[in-house]
Amino acid sequence: MSLSLYTLIENCFPEDRTRLALEAPGRGHGPRDWSFMRLSTYAARYASFLGQLGLKPGDRVALQVEKSPESLVLYLACLRGGFVFLPMNTAYRVEEVDYLVGDAEPALIVCDPASEAAIGDIATRRGVPHVLTLDAEARGSFIDAAAAATNAISPATCSADDLAVILYTSGTTGKPKGAMLTHGNLAANGLALRDAWHFTDEDVLLHALPIFHAHGLFVACHCALLSGAKMIWRQKFDRADVIDHLPRATVFMGVPTFYTRLLASEDFNAALVSHMRLFTSGSAPLLTETFDEFQARTGHTILERYGMTETGMNTSNPYDGERRAGTVGFPLPDVELRVVGEEGDPCSKGEVGGLEVRGPNVFAGYWRQPEKSAEEFAEGGWFKTGDIAMIDVDGYVHLVGRAKDLIISGGFNVYPKEIEELVDDMPEVLESAVIGVPHVDFGEAGLAVVVLREGASLDEATLIIRLKEKIANYKIPKRVFFVESLPRNTMGKVQKNFLRENFKTACT
Ligand code: AMP
Repeated sequence: MSLSLYTLIENCFPEDRTRLALEAPGRGHGPRDWSFMRLSTYAARYASFLGQLGLKPGDRVALQVEKSPESLVLYLACLRGGFVFLPMNTAYRVEEVDYLVGDAEPALIVCDPASEAAIGDIATRRGVPHVLTLDAEARGSFIDAAAAATNAISPATCSADDLAVILYTSGTTGKPKGAMLTHGNLAANGLALRDAWHFTDEDVLLHALPIFHAHGLFVACHCALLSGAKMIWRQKFDRADVIDHLPRATVFMGVPTFYTRLLASEDFNAALVSHMRLFTSGSAPLLTETFDEFQARTGHTILERYGMTETGMNTSNPYDGERRAGTVGFPLPDVELRVVGEEGDPCSKGEVGGLEVRGPNVFAGYWRQPEKSAEEFAEGGWFKTGDIAMIDVDGYVHLVGRAKDLIISGGFNVYPKEIEELVDDMPEVLESAVIGVPHVDFGEAGLAVVVLREGASLDEATLIIRLKEKIANYKIPKRVFFVESLPRNTMGKVQKNFLRENFKTACT
């Protein structure tokens, strides 16, 4: 590909560029509307401004700002100018930002005005030449400074291998690593999803996800931008607000928590969504219970897909065929998947092993960590996802757990997901997480952390007796703790590392 991802995106805009691309909440004066024309004009202006600041193609632009149309346009400007976009989670504390800035060495940081002083300190210490501000309502020094820029520079010519984005992995499994995503990775995956999910310029995507993560930035925005569809942007997921806006949408994308929260409202009913075309779910496992309840309540079958920061999307349940609960569907076109045993030997259908992926979507390695990157690839260019999976006889991919979640107790492998499903099936239980903790005798032992439904009661002994009826003894958690809620990151993933830390002495 000799086009930048930006040029590809712009080529997919509708012929009539006065059409609306984005509708975002305004400052109490109704929505702020962005036509496709306005997106292009501002992407060109911001790209020129970055050039005038002295940035060269390949320089990093780090961002820690609230979701706003301008932050999306800044992303498009980076793609246009060949600068490398580096979005940071808005929940990151100063120490985490400091680590990322030290690692990525951006030429510019754009931050919220409220954190200008703290980020300014980091920039001074780390030698970052420029810090500018941008808030959710398009105020800040970035906007003021960019207003004067001309539209002079034309889009950079990028090869498929040129770096477009560095996205730090969510850190549920340790120190963040910068996944290097190329123009080719993002283009291939965006086009595959657009086509697999039948996006057209008639679609209206209700976008309530954050845009510092692959789900909200790539999966959602690329599907819309590459099909000329309109997006209705909401600042964050708020159940009542989403219910208000669903009547004007055709597609909604969520993490499983969005769906459980919607189902908890009586206002969420079949009539509200009878006109909708598609609901997708990903980033964390969708419980079969949620899938079934959603289908019963609305008549819609949620389409679950699976991916990760390093690879974009790997699999999707079919748009036209059967969407199967508890599975993440089939590999996307051009994406190859295989399940391997501990020695890297291929598993047969139905066997559980490590999931590996190969294809145009797979990232170019971790930023400045060639050795770590090499370790994550098996011979032949297969990326080791770290997910444990099984492919069934019909070809559907089932995720069984994360490799790092795997508990080895007394030499036996225990897959937490299996236990969690049994615990979650108990009528008193809302949700659960099973983790491995140090154990004097077994080395590691399973421990269950359980959230009960409101008003329900259940004790440790009863829960264990019920499990013993269903599974081998070595799989039975050695202890059960009841908590009010499970710690989750912004993408809805249970932060098992926090639980491991909290309960590390429970079995010693
Ligand atoms: P991240 O890099 O933050 O997007 O996290 C990627 C990880 O999220 C994957 O390796 C999976 O473990 C998990 N994940 C993503 N989608 C799903 C899904 N549909 N079901 C279960 N786990 C998922």
